[in-house]
Amino acid sequence: MISFEQIDLDQLVAGILAGCEIDRETASAILSCPDDRLPDLLNATRRVREAAFGRRVKICVLRNAQSGICPEDCGYCSQSRVSKADIPVYKMQPIAALVEGARVAVDSGARRYCMVCSMRGPARPDLDHLSEACDRIRGEFPGLELCLSIGILEREHALELKDAGAGWINHNLNTSRRFYPRICSTHTYDDRVRTIENVRAAGLSTCSGGIIGMGEGDADIVDLAYATRRLEINSVPVNFLAPIKGTPLGGMNSLTPEKCLKAACLFRLLNPKSEVRAAGGRELNLGARQGDLFNAVNSIFVNGYLTTAGWDYARTREMIERAGFEPETAA
Ligand code: SF4
Repeated sequence: MISFEQIDLDQLVAGILAGCEIDRETASAILSCPDDRLPDLLNATRRVREAAFGRRVKICVLRNAQSGICPEDCGYCSQSRVSKADIPVYKMQPIAALVEGARVAVDSGARRYCMVCSMRGPARPDLDHLSEACDRIRGEFPGLELCLSIGILEREHALELKDAGAGWINHNLNTSRRFYPRICSTHTYDDRVRTIENVRAAGLSTCSGGIIGMGEGDADIVDLAYATRRLEINSVPVNFLAPIKGTPLGGMNSLTPEKCLKAACLFRLLNPKSEVRAAGGRELNLGARQGDLFNAVNSIFVNGYLTTAGWDYARTREMIERAGFEPETAA
């Protein structure tokens, strides 16, 4: 075991920028960084972030295209079959609504729009519907990056969606392989890895990260961060659990702003060239320290997270600028 104090941060940054992978002991020490050394960790991480992304921040908007009817049992999720959370329940939204969602996303400063469906995976009618929606959105908003989050996906279905205009598929690993059975019993970690491999094989970009604060240990966070590196994920969302009443993890409350920032730094340092995004739970868990996230992440969500509210573009933009960063120009 090494301690954070034993890490030469200049050397660490130089090694990462030269293409070296940090070792596991160093990764664990980063997560255990003493709070009074966090400014130094953030400064070091910012140098890695700036090498690939400058001071730019990409805005993303989610659309809950089908809500509250998932047969899976993910413990953190308000839309699972075991959730008793009071949320809107509806089947797949009409194509016009999904296109309208893209317009709202563009008006909200978004460079990326992600349509999310609560489902195990898409059936034939879902694929046809989403393909048509992608085709329409691609036609109306050619500069908007288009992402789908639709559960377990076969390669040939990913290919269809790519042909229709999708560029990205989100499927989060969520946590470590070891901890996965504690949060879900209806599918496995390896099911999720297979979907990521299918997405890549279809020539689509991969979006996959996780959720911090579900009762996992530091070793699980480290495992997850290395998994995103090994799988060469293009876009890594880092969520900070916002416990939802009525879900199995509704009583969980283990995060501090400092812990969230250390985790975000670790994901950046292990994924120096990938997009790293601050996702759900940033407002609740980081509060006044959200601006520090931009030392690690180059992207952020606005307008909320499927069934929980979040900051809008104007408020988020002000925070980005106050922290010394700049939102990417809208599509
Ligand atoms: S598969 Fe997705 S929508 Fe379904 S319960 Fe899990 S996280 Fe929620």
